[in-house]
Amino acid sequence: MEHPLRVDEFVPSNDMAPVEDKTLAASAAKAAPAPLAAPAPLPPLPNLPASEVQFLRPSDPQYADFLPASSRRKQLAPALRAICKTEHAVAVMVDWVRSNRLNFATRSGGHSYEGLSQSTGVAIDVRGLTQITVDKASNLVTVGSGVTLFQLYSALAAQGLALQAGSCPTVGIAGHLTGGGHGLLARSHGLTCDGLRQANVVDAQARILQANAASQPDLFWACRGGGGGSFGIATQFQIGVFPLKSALVFGVSWKLPQARAAKLFAVWQDWAPKAPSNITSIMKVGPAGGGQITMRCIGQSVGSESELRAELKRLTTSQAPSSALTVTSLAFLDAVKHFAGPLTYPSELMKAKSDYVLSPLSARGIATMMAAVAPTAPGGIVLLCDSYGGRIADVAANATAFPRRAGTQYCIQYFSSWSRAADTPGRLAQIAKVYNAMRPFMPDASYVNYCDLDLPDYARSYWGDNLTRLVAVKQQYDPTNVFHHAQSVPLAIAVA
Ligand SMILES: Cc1cc2nc3c(=O)[nH]c(=O)nc-3n(C[C@H](O)[C@H](O)[C@H](O)COP(=O)(O)OP(=O)(O)OC[C@H]3O[C@@H](n4cnc5c(N)ncnc54)[C@H](O)[C@@H]3O)c2cc1C
Repeated sequence: MEHPLRVDEFVPSNDMAPVEDKTLAASAAKAAPAPLAAPAPLPPLPNLPASEVQFLRPSDPQYADFLPASSRRKQLAPALRAICKTEHAVAVMVDWVRSNRLNFATRSGGHSYEGLSQSTGVAIDVRGLTQITVDKASNLVTVGSGVTLFQLYSALAAQGLALQAGSCPTVGIAGHLTGGGHGLLARSHGLTCDGLRQANVVDAQARILQANAASQPDLFWACRGGGGGSFGIATQFQIGVFPLKSALVFGVSWKLPQARAAKLFAVWQDWAPKAPSNITSIMKVGPAGGGQITMRCIGQSVGSESELRAELKRLTTSQAPSSALTVTSLAFLDAVKHFAGPLTYPSELMKAKSDYVLSPLSARGIATMMAAVAPTAPGGIVLLCDSYGGRIADVAANATAFPRRAGTQYCIQYFSSWSRAADTPGRLAQIAKVYNAMRPFMPDASYVNYCDLDLPDYARSYWGDNLTRLVAVKQQYDPTNVFHHAQSVPLAIAVA
């Protein structure tokens, strides 16, 4: 198994043995709910039957089971969690929080890096919306917004079908799709949002809208890359899927001095965004200790093995790998599992930042990257470079709210996770140092699904030229800003 976000796989395991922090070691799922500082008195709850909603307050025995968020630093304990099981329940909850002016957040898979689905007030939680209906004849899946990627992959694979989406099995479809959704079929089949045919959305007036190309087209446009939590609560998605029996998964590693690592990165950068669209690769760059760099290229192809091996020769002849290239044909669901890592819910201390590389990085830029990464402790940080191009680039930059299309080379995700709370300040400083070193070479473009509260102008960084239309859609569907969080689509464009 090979989880893209694992930072420890380049170094001997004894270098990386996590130092156990007893205060954090307890299973997140069993963690006692954090006491609320000042429990907000709630108005009488809406009159909904248990078949439509499960209300959980801190005193309820099941409250802790639903508490963990993927980013443990950002986890909040809501005064009320409403696990909605029907679209109607979502609409009633929206009406209730709006008319009572309550703070609330919308939660699906809970993988927001910055906890944008967390609230100390009310959590409208769509994890009760779990239906999956596969229409094999039309290659369509209709899916509740509380479904996880792995649940969806499994249901599709059982019918010989597949979907392009990310590698983490517990990510929720709602946040993932509405922010874009990049995975190991992205260059062959596009982003997750590119498959969307219709979204059912409860809007600020608690109306249930069906947004598709013909009905509510502006909302439909915004649902494809505008990010979650800004326009309403999606309850259901209809997504185009495709037959896929198997895929080739590959991986190859290097341990190199900085100058040779820079040469290899330049070769990857020249190849990955222009490679045959069958192939989606991720180049991982991390510190190896002693000033050296580890690099690992992983990926997937839906083409032939001979094509894949011929293409990868560029990398393996540029620098001799330290571990041999492996290419394995796996059934689609096994390929998903290969990159998924554990299927259990992650709840960890972490931080991520991102950059879109919109034109190839200069030699100085690549050298700066290596020089910034090399001195950090092995396992402390990984830069994941997700290749773009292929089918992602076939969609016009303004055809959906997701703006990073033709010309986008790759997305760098600066990622760190750790186990001891005492290490948090050091890890945050380290990731900021590497990220800051790259500022002179980067165009201030970031991925909304790798949200980052440090961004000085998040709206422009995430949405670029699509921001103006997104703001207009926000004004149209949510003029009083019922749906907001720290990085939601604003009602007006900030003047610099
Ligand atoms: C371990 C890990 C691996 C990841 N791997 C990938 C990857 O391979 N590719 C990739 O592209 N991204 C990846 N991501 C990022 C992921 O796509 C985003 O964090 C995504 O937003 C998570 O969606 P969620 O539903 O799980 O999160 P949540 O935290 O529940 O929601 C995220 C945002 O969407 C909003 N939202 C939630 N539900 C709804 C709804 N029903 N209607 C409207 N808004 C809603 C929330 O309010 C919040 O603003 C990864 C993240 C993690 C933590």
